[in-house]
Amino acid sequence: MRSEHSNDPEVKVIRSPRRRRTIQARVVNGVVEIRIPAAFSRRQEDDAVADMLARMRAKSTSQGVGDAELEARAHQLNASVLAGRAEFTSIRWVSNQNTRWGSCTPSTGQIRISDRLKDVPAYVLDAVVVHELTHTFIPGHGPEFWEWADRAPRAERAKGYLEALQRHG
Ligand SMILES: [Zn+2]
Repeated sequence: MRSEHSNDPEVKVIRSPRRRRTIQARVVNGVVEIRIPAAFSRRQEDDAVADMLARMRAKSTSQGVGDAELEARAHQLNASVLAGRAEFTSIRWVSNQNTRWGSCTPSTGQIRISDRLKDVPAYVLDAVVVHELTHTFIPGHGPEFWEWADRAPRAERAKGYLEALQRHG
């Protein structure tokens, strides 16, 4: 999954001179606005953002989704979003993908999803699954690819989320 296609940054950090230690987050038009004290260092800012994102994603996550559930979900998304075009033999969580959210080997039909995504909201996981499913019938990231991959519910929002996650951990 590549994230440079996003034009929708999800996190906006606002430094407030009046704040001393309190951190506050709220979602405005789909953007997570995080207010921090103006005196925070870059490191404190990163920690605050990571903490807030973790709290928000804890509300609705994919935790507890095992390989079987992941596979059931992939079949469901294939039917509902991709008109059943994806052909895959297996989809499973892996823990050794540090730089990619998912990967697909079209010749064998095997899809791997990074277990770092076990903590993200369900729609973000769905977008990554649809992305990899699409690769089983379209290699590369051309216009035709995005025509299918972007059919995932809230696909643009998911890209913004993943971009923020990549940056802030
Ligand atoms: Zn891709």
